[in-house]
Amino acid sequence: MENKKAGFNTICTHFGELKDEKYKGAISPLYMSTSYAFDDVEVKRYPRYFNTPNQVALSEKVAALEHAEAAMIFGSGMAAVSTALMAFLRAGDHVVLQKTLYGGTYNLVTEEFEKFGISYSFTEGLKPEDFIAKIKENTKVIYIETPSNPLLTITDLKAVSAIAKEHGLVSMIDNTFASPVNQNPIDFGIDIVIHSATKYMGGHSDILAGAVASTKENMERIFHLAKNFGGSLSDYTVWLLERSIKTMGIRVKAQNENAQKMSEYLYENKNVQAVFYPGLPSHADHQLAKSQMRGFGGMLSFELNASIDSYTFQQALKLIKSSMSLAGVESTLLSPSKTSHGLLSPEERENQGIADGLIRFSLGIEDIEDLIEDIEQAIAVAT
Ligand SMILES: *Cc1c(COP(=O)(O)O)cnc(C)c1O
Repeated sequence: MENKKAGFNTICTHFGELKDEKYKGAISPLYMSTSYAFDDVEVKRYPRYFNTPNQVALSEKVAALEHAEAAMIFGSGMAAVSTALMAFLRAGDHVVLQKTLYGGTYNLVTEEFEKFGISYSFTEGLKPEDFIAKIKENTKVIYIETPSNPLLTITDLKAVSAIAKEHGLVSMIDNTFASPVNQNPIDFGIDIVIHSATKYMGGHSDILAGAVASTKENMERIFHLAKNFGGSLSDYTVWLLERSIKTMGIRVKAQNENAQKMSEYLYENKNVQAVFYPGLPSHADHQLAKSQMRGFGGMLSFELNASIDSYTFQQALKLIKSSMSLAGVESTLLSPSKTSHGLLSPEERENQGIADGLIRFSLGIEDIEDLIEDIEQAIAVAT
């Protein structure tokens, strides 16, 4: 399939697939070779060079989904994040990062950057002026994540890309929470889009992978570092990921709908003191979310009333699993203060607005009535 103007679900299903010329099978054949004859190809094909047939095919699909010229698939979301950042930073450089970041990215920056001589600043808030305030003479990169984890705050894509252009910076976004179904940051002028494909792209809690999409020129630069860092992945995983993405459009649409309905239910529930979902008109960034997202995503977070024990509530759930990770077809939830953001100090958590009782909820594709019933009975047990 060659037409990038095709609809989203058509791209998900068909774009960048390999033809089974020999047997005319319906799906992409899987090529597991780590060795390819020199005389057959102009390029040296090798899995760590990100150029095996399945890798190239999937990269084309991801690039099309993100309206990018090119893309690469990595062995994990963190391989994608670290390689993209390090490709544009060197000793003496400075990077401005949004204050609310995925825990692993925060750890990468705070635990590793100093030893490479790279300095960093986290913004105080998420308004455009908060980013400008942290830019220095040696700033090279501006890094954002929207919607953010776990409070689903929204950062203004157009404003950040304008700031980056004005100051000659490379803008990067972790687009994992939105997925390409709901948000295409390149359309707003962001330079580099990163995904943990472990989440919505994989969608079934069985794949660890990452992706980066950008211009050919930027991807060339990232590739040079990537082949030395070695963050590649098995072609079997690549093939599985291609299969998963075929259903991403309809999966995420169902997750969007469930999250919207669940957030409305929780908002009306007198046992709940706060709900954070960009699809709620009460959300502080609802209008901004509307201006840059097609859907509001499958993630929300909430706080039960202080009188209800959050741990007992989670233990009492029967259908919804209390577990790490997110974005699978099954609904899961967790306490950020004990898990995803557990490595942060209490002060850092407070600074990010993450209360101890906050619960992050990843909506799956189950029937919403069953999910609500589960929440209701678990609240009754914990009250
Ligand atoms: C999970 C996640 C990552 C890291 O991805 P891995 O695949 O676990 O390495 C990065 N950013 C966000 C927003 C995530 O949710």
